[in-house]
Amino acid sequence: MSFRATVLTLYPEMFPGHLGASLSGRALERGQWSIDAVQIRDFAEDKHRTVDDTPAGGGAGMVLKPDVLARAIDAVSKDDHRPRLLMSPRGRPLTQKRVRELADGPGVVIVCGRFEGVDQRVIDGRELEEVSIGDYILSGGEPAALTLLDAVVRILPGVMGNELSGVHESFEGGLLEHPHYTRPQVFEGREIPPVLTSGNHGAIAKWRETEARRLTEERRPDLLFQPVKK
Ligand code: SAH
Repeated sequence: MSFRATVLTLYPEMFPGHLGASLSGRALERGQWSIDAVQIRDFAEDKHRTVDDTPAGGGAGMVLKPDVLARAIDAVSKDDHRPRLLMSPRGRPLTQKRVRELADGPGVVIVCGRFEGVDQRVIDGRELEEVSIGDYILSGGEPAALTLLDAVVRILPGVMGNELSGVHESFEGGLLEHPHYTRPQVFEGREIPPVLTSGNHGAIAKWRETEARRLTEERRPDLLFQPVKK
């Protein structure tokens, strides 16, 4: 069974978006994963197909109605063991570890918020796992869902041309990745570090490890003090 993504959104035309191009696009055509974007509005039952309402307690903006969203979730995930995610700036920050877990599973159901967000009772009642892609506010959950799916799809079996290129990446070993170089040997007066063209594989591995550690200490010291990642 290939990885199956169902996305609940008010803008289904945003999918598969960039995932329809390049390696993920070819994998989609080959059936190595699938994506189904479902219009939340189709589950509104009133004449005007209303999906939002004013916030209880007052204040700016609108809130996605729980009844409409619950019907949409139930319609796509009955008897379904896929994790149900809600893209949300209040969620737990997405990590490569969670991406790997999701990629190892059967797929995901992703709810994309809009407006001020969604009614809390549907988050609680449908046990939605809130996931954030960073400490900033987007106008909707769609680009966040595409980001999460991008990270998942690229590590699905057979999606990346060169399987090995997925192994030594930033975060995988708890460190940021070392810098990369390619020809020409001298570019605008800057040389490729000689060790990389020395043919000495032991020395190259050591240089990469040292650089990875240096970059991580400099830019992301927080990563060094986390419990060891898978
Ligand atoms: N009022 C909310 C923000 C709503 S933004 C708050 O202050 O928390 C509208 C929608 O965009 C959200 O419901 C969510 O689905 C999506 N979104 C915005 N920023 C996001 C982020 N950093 N990560 C994931 N989803 C995000």
